[in-house]
Parts: sequence; structure tokens; C-alpha cells
Amino acid sequence: MNVHDSEKILGVLETEGFIRTDNPRFADLIIFNTCSIRQKAEQKFYSELGRIKSYKKINPHLKIAVAGCIAQQEGKKIFKRARHVDFIFGPQNIMALKHFAAEGHVPVAVEENPLIAIEDLPARRSAGISAWVTIMYGCNNFCSYCVVPYTRGRERSRPSEHIVAEVSKIAKEGYREVTLLGQNVNSYESDVDFPGLLRKLDGVGGIERIRFVTSHPKDLSTDLINAIKELPKVCEHIHLPLQSGSTAILKMMNRRYSFEDYIEKISALRDKIPNISITSDIIAGFPGETDEDHRLTLKALREIEFDGTFAFKFSPRPGTKAATIHENLTEEMKSERLYEILALQDTITEKKNKAIEGAIQEVLIEGSSENGNGNLTGRTRTNKIVDIRANEIVKGTLVDVEITKGKKHSLQGKLVG
Ligand code: SAM
Ligand code: SF4
Repeated sequence: MNVHDSEKILGVLETEGFIRTDNPRFADLIIFNTCSIRQKAEQKFYSELGRIKSYKKINPHLKIAVAGCIAQQEGKKIFKRARHVDFIFGPQNIMALKHFAAEGHVPVAVEENPLIAIEDLPARRSAGISAWVTIMYGCNNFCSYCVVPYTRGRERSRPSEHIVAEVSKIAKEGYREVTLLGQNVNSYESDVDFPGLLRKLDGVGGIERIRFVTSHPKDLSTDLINAIKELPKVCEHIHLPLQSGSTAILKMMNRRYSFEDYIEKISALRDKIPNISITSDIIAGFPGETDEDHRLTLKALREIEFDGTFAFKFSPRPGTKAATIHENLTEEMKSERLYEILALQDTITEKKNKAIEGAIQEVLIEGSSENGNGNLTGRTRTNKIVDIRANEIVKGTLVDVEITKGKKHSLQGKLVG
């Protein structure tokens, strides 16, 4: 979501005549698009901000802006900590950048839920075959550990015709895949609900694949499962964060589902779409998490066998309920738990990747492999990265690939036919 917000920031600046430079020393404007989901991201930002202070000596006209969730949360307090900052704007106020860039005023723009957020912002997408499209802003769920409802405000869905128009435009520009973005896409609601939106988008010519993130397990409906199964362009992958395998911890997290509810959703998904890949987020060491709760999370990973998992150590965030709960675990204990989760998931991912060796998969070619081995890279419909021994195929082409090797973080394959 932050990457796409940066594309919108670039889009707004482009309409003001700005040109991007890769060298910050030549810049007249430097913007930090920040994340405050965990403390580590915040620390990194402040150290980078300190580091570029000297650039103002090289270029006295240089302006420095802070965007994103830290900007929203801290507001003008950032000026006190870093006097070299000129402008602060939150994720709901990207349009304010236009006035700052043009006139140099409005030093703080952190208004909550301005209607402007619903309007389409110009986005300068990086060239490629896959594009992000925001379908909704904010979140109403208030999971007890999470800053998002405070920094991105309440849920607001974009009208479906705006989304269809944006996706049609993207298709004309040559993109082949869209990823629909929202903190909880399952609660998208305008003239249609989320499955209805998928049905509309499935009809957009030129787009071959539709993906979406993130789905909240409590709102995953049978209608959505049917839409994934029936709609040819909607890929067989769902990111469905579990967070913990312990129902007691899920309750403390205010996730509003039990582990048993979650398992039911997984069964419903796999019954209807047997080849679906399912990925998850897990938080290690939530306050009050016992050895038994942690064991339940490891047991859940073994039982569910996710295709992949993003796992994080619990990080107390200012203003959230979980930050007020006494932390019973040291950083070291949280790191140990995180390590166990990641190590277990690695073995499961490798096992699942090996299980598809010999299978034929449809791959959308994204470009040259990052390995620098002259191969091509692309993704399966199930969102697995494949390194392919071939070099003549055009970016954006759909090809059939036989999986020759399943590895921990990717697959190897060869072209069929
Ligand atoms: N809206 C999505 C959902 O409900 O799953 C996820 C949004 S959040 C930006 C991405 C992930 O960050 C969460 O799923 C959670 O695992 C993790 N996260 C959020 N707050 C955290 C915190 N305070 N400490 C550790 N991890 C956190
Ligand atoms: Fe944060 Fe929960 Fe909303 Fe996801 S659903 S953004 S974890 S509050």
C-alpha cells in the first residue's frame, strides 16, 4: 500500500512539473514516505532523516517532506525533532502536496478522512506488467495491536465505476495484472460488494489476472470463494492473515474469529478450490502469550500448511490497546519465537513447492530473473515466483511451464511446447 502511495505522490508531483532524480543530492524536494506499523520502520526513518540534513547545505533551496503513517501519527511534533523538515502530510492528504509543491505553504496536512481521499489521484506507476489499484481506504477493525485505523482513518470504498475505469486505463497502457488494495477488501461496499466488484473487473479486456490483498478472515464469504473459483481472471491465491493459533490471543488481538472459525474458512476454500495457495501473517510474542499459546501457533502452521507466511515480532505501537498490556516476554524471547515460526514455515513452504515438481503451471512473464543468470522470471497464478530457462519470451506473455524444482523461496521451471 505504501509503494502505491509513493506512486500517487509521484503522480501528483508530475502534474506540477517535477522530474524524478535517482540522486537525492540533486533534488529540490525529498519526500520520506514512512511506515509506522512496527517500531523498527520508525527508527530507520529517523536515522535516514538525520543523515540527509547536510544536503540542505549543498542545496539551500532543498525542501524536505515527511509523508505516510509516521507523518499522520506525529504531525507537527516531527518539526521539533527535525527542524530541517518543511512539510508533513498524512496518507489521507496526498493531494495537499500539490499546494505545497506549487506555493510552498500548508506545512502540516494531517486532516482525518478528507473526502479528497476518495477521488482518483494520478499515479505514476513503475513500468511493468503488474499494477496496484486502491479499492478502499482505511480500516474499521481496530485489531488491538494495529495503528492503521488511527493513521489511515475509517473505511471508505471507491465507487466501482471509478475502479473499472482505472483498470481499463491500466490495461490500455499495457499492464496485464492488477492487484486490488485495501486493508480488508472483503468489506468493500459501494454499489456492489467485493465479489460483485471482482465480477465487474473480470470483464475488463486486456487484463489477464486479478489479485487482491488483504482479506480479513471474519469477512471471508462463500460468495467470495465462489467468485475466486468461477471468475477466470481471479487468481487462486488468498492472503488470509491468521496472526495467532491461540483463540485466547486472537481474542486479545480483537480479531473477532476463533482458531476453529479460521479452520472452517480454510476448509471451505480448499473444498471449492483445491489448488488455491494460502498465505498468512503471524505475530510472535503478543503480550500475555504463553508457551502454550506459542505452541498452538506452531501447531496451526503444521496443520494448515500455508504456502508462505510473513511473521513479525510484536511491536507496541503508541495509541493502540495492546501497547497498554504488560509485556511478559523479553525481546530475546520474542526473537526466539519468531525464529521458530520462520524456520518451521520455511520447511513447509519447501515441502509445498516440492509437491508441485512435474506440474504444468501458467506463468506470467515479468522480465529477467534477478539471479542474473540470463533466465526469465514470472509468477504462477498461485503467486509463486518461477525462474525459467528461456530468454526469448516477451514480458507480459502467459506461458505454460513445467516445474522442475521446488525450492524454499521459489520454483525453477522449463517451457512446455
Ligand atoms: N489489514 C491486514 C490484516 O488485517 O491482516 C494487515 C495489515 S498490517 C499493515 C500487516 C501486518 O502487520 C498484520 O497482518 C500484522 O501481522 C502485522 N502487524 C500489525 N501491527 C503490528 C504490531 N504492532 N506488531 C507486529 N506486527 C504487526
Ligand atoms: Fe490493522 Fe486489523 Fe485493520 Fe488489518 S484489519 S489494518 S491488522 S486493524
